[in-house]
Amino acid sequence: MSEAAIIDGKAFAEGLRGRVAEFASQFEARAGRKAGLAVVLVGEDPASQVYVRNKGKQTVACGMNSFEHKLAADTGEADLLALVEKLNADPAVDGILVQLPLPSHMNEQKVIATINPDKDVDGFHVVNVGRLATGLPGFVPCTPLGCVMLLKDRLGSLSGLDAVVIGRSNIVGKPMAQLLTAESCTVTVAHSRTKDLPEVVRRADIVVAAVGRPEMVKGDWIKPGATVIDVGINRVPAAEEGKTKLVGDVDFVSASQVAGAITPVPGGVGPMTIAVLLRNTLVAAHRNAGIVLDENAI
Ligand code: NAD
Repeated sequence: MSEAAIIDGKAFAEGLRGRVAEFASQFEARAGRKAGLAVVLVGEDPASQVYVRNKGKQTVACGMNSFEHKLAADTGEADLLALVEKLNADPAVDGILVQLPLPSHMNEQKVIATINPDKDVDGFHVVNVGRLATGLPGFVPCTPLGCVMLLKDRLGSLSGLDAVVIGRSNIVGKPMAQLLTAESCTVTVAHSRTKDLPEVVRRADIVVAAVGRPEMVKGDWIKPGATVIDVGINRVPAAEEGKTKLVGDVDFVSASQVAGAITPVPGGVGPMTIAVLLRNTLVAAHRNAGIVLDENAI
């Protein structure tokens, strides 16, 4: 059987960041200011620190302002809410991202609900969830939006295709299903209680795996020629003693013998998330400044 085409998310994300940079410079010329993204990090979680650092670097590299706010792990919830309110009111800030997870003494839902929905570039506020569900313009969570961009780049129109999304989280699975429905796919959402998951996945022209279980989806679950998007990021022991490696939720070796196209891990969906965050920030800047932007052009 032939090998699947590799969907190069790293290259696509680089192209997207290039388009963001171009439009960001046009925005600056027209608005007389740079677009700005504020990122709030509470505590010292090492993975979150790396994400925040990368977001800041890439924001600046695209010609936008990055405002980083680092708060101690024992910061009170009221102080965090006060900072979010300050950022809501700051005209230099177009997008606000509060890095999750928050320390356990804080209520994440309450914090997200305090962000102005028009600055909620992560798309987690219930107003944006409702806008997505009803087809109104808003902000869509970055990872699933990145997946749809990769799918449309690969397949063109998705209309009429059978799609199976494995996972129903608020961050990936649910918005992914909404986006694929909006693209006129016939969508099945599978999850931990789904009966005979391999049989369900075998029906799909498009498989999106967002489970968090290393290499769970096997090659013999995949319909020949299907397009496979692997959102999973799982750290597992590597062959070499004491080392670890990243794998997805799909068993890449067996799935790539059957699929038509597949995203690798790393280098597939992962790099898309920050690139889409920058795109969402630029879109927010245009909307906030009342400057027209062809949002489909980036
Ligand atoms: P989550 O834990 O919130 O949700 C996992 C979902 O998988 C749940 O809805 C659950 O019902 C389902 N599930 C669990 N076990 C299952 C099983 N045996 N069969 C079928 N379904 C099962 O996770 P999440 O936040 O949606 O993340 C999923 C994966 O995607 C993780 O590996 C995460 O690291 C990764 N992720 C990657 C990015 C990125 O930038 N590429 C972003 C977010 C999440």
